[in-house]
Amino acid sequence: MAGVELADIYAARVRIASVARRTALIPSPSLSARAGADVRLKLEFLQDTGSFKVRGAANTILALDAPARAKGVVTVSTGNHGRAVAHVARLVGTKAIVCLSNLVPENKRAAIRALGAELVVHGQSQDDAAEIAFDLVRTRGMTMVNPFDDARVVAGQGTIGLELLEDFPEIDSVLVPVSGGGLISGIARALKSARRDFRVIGVSMDRGAAMHASLAAGKPVLVPDVDTLADSLQGGIFLDNTHTFSMVRELVDDLVLVTEEEIARAMAYAFDREHLCLEGGGAVGIAAILAGKAGVLGRHAAIVLSGTNVAAPVLTRVVAEHRAWLKDHV
Ligand SMILES: *Cc1c(COP(=O)(O)O)cnc(C)c1O
Repeated sequence: MAGVELADIYAARVRIASVARRTALIPSPSLSARAGADVRLKLEFLQDTGSFKVRGAANTILALDAPARAKGVVTVSTGNHGRAVAHVARLVGTKAIVCLSNLVPENKRAAIRALGAELVVHGQSQDDAAEIAFDLVRTRGMTMVNPFDDARVVAGQGTIGLELLEDFPEIDSVLVPVSGGGLISGIARALKSARRDFRVIGVSMDRGAAMHASLAAGKPVLVPDVDTLADSLQGGIFLDNTHTFSMVRELVDDLVLVTEEEIARAMAYAFDREHLCLEGGGAVGIAAILAGKAGVLGRHAAIVLSGTNVAAPVLTRVVAEHRAWLKDHV
């Protein structure tokens, strides 16, 4: 069955409570002034493993019965999901194999290895790496913890929407990074259950945005993975997508694209002005506001800051290269 209901998200919240924390929501006076709205930041990168992905991973792995746990879990990832799966698998004492493409940065590979998972590096795209993962499911009976296209994963990510409603009852719009669409589908389901006129705006990088291309084509399509600061947003949506493509089509009001330069500015801005360390994929919501691309927001908007796993030399270079821009623009 395609789709995830509000009840699934409440069930997820109970299941993952011991693993995923409730993250803070903080006001941003400077982004509020820029957007002409009350803008708050959801600090989802403060989860263990540095991204929201523990929510969906925990909701899937904690639901497995003993025989499934004995066989272990396998996944394919652009880095952060694999890290979350490795973390949760270790907590419950089950084996994890993480399949990655050659594009995944070394800092993310090392973090997954450090959590005790087995790494398999294959190919030049997430789709290449996925072939190996699905083989392991077939040959070894391991459970696939899908990075986005799975009802349990979507419901887990949707718990962010419940927290937003509770901590910010006036909220009427949200900006969410989009790759495979699990994060935005879950959040949109939770928020649109509360208010039909809620505005959900997705943001992706303009280089290889698979969901955006798929919506334009009317069906899931392949896009080549290209190098980007938003490496956690790389990867396709899977050609046999069963959940997130239809949920995004139904629930997301707008999907905007930001350039590499806009992402870099947002990372520099977050570090310099908000004192937050964000990876490119975690900063695209801020990028959309700074670039004036967020379109019509409501009066009370949240930006989901989804991840922090950027290598320190990359972040310091980006900040150094944007000193002059920061001085002139924000
Ligand atoms: C995975 C990820 C996303 C996108 O999530 P999807 O469910 O694939 O759309 C956004 N930001 C970060 C930091 C991520 O790791």
